Amino acid sequence: MTDVGFIGLGNMGMPMAGRLFDAGHRVRCYDTSAVALERAAARGLVPCTDVFSAVQDADVVISMLPSGRDVLAVFGERVDGAKLPLRDGCVVIDSSTIDVNSCAAFHRSMSARNLLSLDAPVSGGVEGAAAGTLTFMVGGSQAALDAALPLLGAMGKKIVHAGEACAGQVAKICNNMIAGISMIAVSEALTLAQRLGLDARKLFEISAASSGQCWALTSYAPVPGLVPTAPSNRAYQGGFASELMLKDLRLAEQAAIGSGTPTPLGAAAAALYDIHCKTGKGRLDFSSIVQMLNDSERR
Ligand code: NAD
Repeated sequence: MTDVGFIGLGNMGMPMAGRLFDAGHRVRCYDTSAVALERAAARGLVPCTDVFSAVQDADVVISMLPSGRDVLAVFGERVDGAKLPLRDGCVVIDSSTIDVNSCAAFHRSMSARNLLSLDAPVSGGVEGAAAGTLTFMVGGSQAALDAALPLLGAMGKKIVHAGEACAGQVAKICNNMIAGISMIAVSEALTLAQRLGLDARKLFEISAASSGQCWALTSYAPVPGLVPTAPSNRAYQGGFASELMLKDLRLAEQAAIGSGTPTPLGAAAAALYDIHCKTGKGRLDFSSIVQMLNDSERR
């Protein structure tokens, strides 16, 4: 049994922490939301009223927080100078999706304390978190990964060592940039085909076996009736929210600007998802971007 301190019990963190509990680990946890702490207690976790009690003497600490600012508020230097009571040998894993600079600062602050740390963002969404089928993209040393593997294995089914510190975050934002851009490409092509009188199913059949083939088309088609398991068949409920896609596209943009890398399609995808979210569709799966194109007037 491992003594785990878990910070951030939202849509993802709660089911992830629950999986650890189900696997027989002792999970003390903390969230700034009192409601989240009540739910945690009902799930068998040990709720703590402050982050210090949650991580005190833990073997492994895991965070699942909204942004880099939140991660650094927990693990970075505090204004009052107080230090998190992390014990020697503790392994600290941040599974949030955050900007690369904050991720680097997180690793630096753990390394200054001689602690092993990993960035381990995930894909698989809330369903994957509940089922323990997440994919972890891991950045950090092999030693840190070896120590973390039993816990990551209880929450996910695929664990990929992307490379050294921050490589997990880089993999996550680059992968989602591909997914965001290609979803728009597939949505544009399906909309154009239909407006030109070609049935969406015909284009699907042809492109699925031609050079237009890609995951956004053959596994996650944005038009209903093409891929039975795709969120488009359930009114774009569930899946990966457009607002989270926008968040990740913005993180990719930020990293692209910071590294002087031209990513014009990434920038265009971020701008389109921004408009889509502003029309109130942020909670719908990101394949709902096709609605924005369908709804737009013919020029
Ligand atoms: P969420 O907003 O549902 O949960 C975040 C939780 O963190 C909230 O309960 C909030 O109260 C808590 N929190 C914020 N600041 C805190 C602090 N300083 N101390 C303790 N608790 C704090 O978000 P989520 O959907 O669970 O996502 C978490 C992370 O996972 C994000 O970085 C997100 O981008 C990433 N992610 C989400 C999904 C998804 O489908 N929801 C998929 C992949 C990755």
